Amino acid sequence: MVILARYGEIHLKGNNKGLFLRRLLANLQKRIDGKVKHEGERIIISDYKDEKSTLGRVTKTFGIVSASPAFVLSSTPDAITKYLETLIVPGTFKVNINRADKKFPIKSPEFAPQCGGIILNANPTATVNLHNPDSTINIDIRQGNTYIYTKVIEGVGGLPVGVSGRAIVLLSGGIDSPVAAWLAAKRGLSVDFIHFATPPYTSELALDKVRKLQEILEDSVGKSKLYVIPFTEISMAIRKHCSPEFMITLMRRFMVRIADRMQADCIITGENLAQVASQTIQGITSNNFCATRLPILRPLITYDKSEIISLAKKIGTYEISIVPHEDCCSVFVPRNPIIAPKLKQVLAEEEKLDAEILINKAMEYIS
Ligand code: ATP
Ligand code: MG
Repeated sequence: MVILARYGEIHLKGNNKGLFLRRLLANLQKRIDGKVKHEGERIIISDYKDEKSTLGRVTKTFGIVSASPAFVLSSTPDAITKYLETLIVPGTFKVNINRADKKFPIKSPEFAPQCGGIILNANPTATVNLHNPDSTINIDIRQGNTYIYTKVIEGVGGLPVGVSGRAIVLLSGGIDSPVAAWLAAKRGLSVDFIHFATPPYTSELALDKVRKLQEILEDSVGKSKLYVIPFTEISMAIRKHCSPEFMITLMRRFMVRIADRMQADCIITGENLAQVASQTIQGITSNNFCATRLPILRPLITYDKSEIISLAKKIGTYEISIVPHEDCCSVFVPRNPIIAPKLKQVLAEEEKLDAEILINKAMEYIS
C-alpha cells in the first residue's frame, strides 16, 4: 500500500510551482517516517510503518487537499484484472478509470465495463450504480504504476508552511490566538510564538497552557519557538504612571513593540473586531500605531466567535484554551477601559514611561 496525496493551489503557482512543491515535499518528509516522492502531479508516500497515523499527518499538512490509501500494481491489463478478482465490494459501486498512461492498450470506455464485470463476478451481491454508488473504485493508470483506491480523505488545504516567510504570533492562553496562528500557517507562514507572563499575578498554570497549545499547534504548523517575556515590570510601570483607562491599550503596544524585535516578517494576533471593549477600530489603531515597522495580521478580524470556536475544536486547541487561567490583560484590566481611545491621548500616556529602558530590560530575560 501507498498513500497518494494531492495538492491544490500549488497548481496555480506558474514559475514558482517548483519552489512550493519542494517545500511541501520537505515538510511532508519531516513529518512522516516513510518515503515521499512526486510523481505526475501527485505525491506518493510509501514504506511507512502505520497507515492510519501517517494518513492523519499527511492530511494535516498544509498544502495537501486530499489523500487516499492505494494499492500499487504494474500498469498492465493483466495485473489490474487479477487484482480486481480479489476485491471485496459490498453494496453498489462504480468504476472510475483515469488512463493517464496513453500507452495502456485498452481505452477507458472499454476497460471500465470490463473491470465492472470482473468485480460483479467476484461479488455476487454487488450491483453497479453510476449515479449514487456506495463506493467508487478509482483506477489511476500511470506510466509504470497503477493505483487503485476507494477512499478520498479531505486535507487541510492551504500552502506549505515556510513559503510565505516567518511570523511571530502573540500567543495568550485563550481561544483566539492559537486559531490565528493556525490560519497564518495555513497560508504558508512559518510561526514562532511570544507569550507575556506577569508572575506572580499569572501562574505557572497559565504558562503550562501556552506550552500545551504550542505542542498541539506544532502538529500542524511544524517545529516552533516559544519566547516567554517577563511582563510584570512593564505592567506595574503602566499602572503606576499612566491613567488606568489606557492600561490595556498601553500593554498591547508594549507587546507589539517587543514582538517587533523578534526578527519576523509580520506579527499575528488573535484580535477580532468588536469582540471585547478594547477591540474597536480605534482600539486596534492605537495598539499598533508607530509601535512596529511590521505588518500586523489579524486572521480572525471578521470571524464570529462561534466560527472561531468550531475551528479551535477542529485544530484541537479548544479543550486547553477553555481551562480557566489568569492572563495579564484580565489581571490588570481597569474597571472602565477606554472603548475608543484617541491616539493622541494614548501617545501622551506612553510618553510618561521610559519605554526603551523597560523593553530592553524585559528582553534580557527572554526564555
Ligand atoms: P485570546 O482568545 O487569543 O486570548 P482575546 O479574545 O482574549 O484573545 P484579548 O485578551 O483582547 O483578546 O487579546 C488580544 C490578542 O492579544 C490575543 O489574541 C493575543 O494575540 C494577544 N495577547 C493577549 N494577551 C497576551 C499575552 N499574555 N501574551 C501574548 N499575547 C497576548
Ligand atoms: Mg485573551
